[in-house]
Amino acid sequence: MKVSGETFTCERCKVTAGWIAGSERSGLPHGWAKKRRKVHCLACRRDLAAEAVLESVPDGTPASELPKLKASARVEFELDRDADRPDGEIAKACGTSIAAVRKAREKFATAGRG
Ligand SMILES: [Zn+2]
Repeated sequence: MKVSGETFTCERCKVTAGWIAGSERSGLPHGWAKKRRKVHCLACRRDLAAEAVLESVPDGTPASELPKLKASARVEFELDRDADRPDGEIAKACGTSIAAVRKAREKFATAGRG
């Protein structure tokens, strides 16, 4: 794919994206975000959301709980980004189950963010 004009490189995984020649679109690719002059792709933003949750895990949380916490952080990130997407789609994007997405959705609504 020939990319012209603006291209973006993810700070974390170094993937590069941009707009094809002749495209009228510009700016960051779909799902990407720029924060403190650092650009991250959607996949990395999801991972960063998952890692961020580990920093706020209470002491004494069993290590076996961590993958679950990370998975729900990913789902919450997706809900925050676009809550209108079907549960199945979010589950697939986050590598988790539809049941986990439903649970996160409830939590999300209770937190008053949804
Ligand atoms: Zn990335």
